[in-house]
Amino acid sequence: MNSPAIDLDWRRVHFADSTIIDLHAHPGLKISLFDRVFTAPFHADGAFNPFSFRSNYPNLRRGGVAALLSAIYAPERQIVLQEAPILKALRMLRPRVWHAIFDGSYFDVANRMLDDLERAVAAAADPATGRPQAQVAHSPAELEAILAQGSSRPIALIHCLEGAHSLNSGPGMTAQRLLANLEHYFRRGVAYLTLAHFFENDLVHPCFPWPENIQKFGCFRSERDITLGLKPAGEQVVERMVELGMLIDLSHCTPPARQRIYDIVGQRAPLLMTHVGAYAINPDPYNPQDWELRRIADSGGMVGVIFMPYWLAPHAGKRGLNSIAQTLRHFIDVAGSEHVGIGSDFDGFTDPPDDLPDASHLGRLTQRLLAERFTVQQISQIWGGNALRVLRQGWGRQGVSPAR
Ligand SMILES: [Zn+2]
Repeated sequence: MNSPAIDLDWRRVHFADSTIIDLHAHPGLKISLFDRVFTAPFHADGAFNPFSFRSNYPNLRRGGVAALLSAIYAPERQIVLQEAPILKALRMLRPRVWHAIFDGSYFDVANRMLDDLERAVAAAADPATGRPQAQVAHSPAELEAILAQGSSRPIALIHCLEGAHSLNSGPGMTAQRLLANLEHYFRRGVAYLTLAHFFENDLVHPCFPWPENIQKFGCFRSERDITLGLKPAGEQVVERMVELGMLIDLSHCTPPARQRIYDIVGQRAPLLMTHVGAYAINPDPYNPQDWELRRIADSGGMVGVIFMPYWLAPHAGKRGLNSIAQTLRHFIDVAGSEHVGIGSDFDGFTDPPDDLPDASHLGRLTQRLLAERFTVQQISQIWGGNALRVLRQGWGRQGVSPAR
């Protein structure tokens, strides 16, 4: 129940006391696949709609977002070829989408998507003043320069990569080529790599990707062996990421892969799980267990809460604010408030909560957290204080500078 004082205060806490950073969203998917314009308004409700655009500039601005870790995802071709053969109709119905997905290697596709996002962001200028509305931050220094511009600053977008299949540049991949391609992305300004995604890749095995409620019509039914973990090439890539200062995101990795990475990395680099729920609330292997939350905290890293009811509390219905707050509370209790953040996964073909359908509504979460007696300090840590610390601490190393 909100008190009048809370109603008066939430705007200050949200827009002034917090630097809002979303650890994981996918504007690039909608820009590259569906030609969505980053600056164009798009109305979206909570219903699953693959063509909606929830993390566009007007929504991010209204939600008070300062920086977005924009995850580039080259769609895995098994989705079309094996999991949902009905999508083969794209070849006829949407040939442009088909070509965007199938033309060249995953490495080619991901690089084209990075180019698309750069172009979309460069075109985002205030029509009246010509001032940039958004900018890509290719390094911690560029991020600081954007944030230092005050309240009328552009929104910072930071490149990230979901799924190490995007390191694959064609047949006959060797560990050496994977490492060279990793460094290519790092120099382009990619801050983190989510090692796993839906399907086995050159580095690692993934968790189950599909919620039961979409296993309909014979689609999305493939099994995963979640006893399998990190491969030898994965060990080499993780080691190189620590050396470079490219952040490691463990989301989608199997539990044994995660265990191995905690052991390899230890306290040498801050580890991320950017868009997850809590195993203690929803015991799904996708979600980190409490001992993992402590290992991530020990590394100096953080966990981001996903805005997707299925992973948070699958039987709680389509509303999300309650389970997001509950998950944040659990993460804070176990890992400490310095190790918790937000990774909405907007535009990742997810099914966002009815009460938090797009980035323009983020203020609702601040109101909710105040009502649940989270402190202002905890709220500002959750919204971006922790993400900023992790980026400063873990992105790039002395003598190894990402980008330009
Ligand atoms: Zn994901």
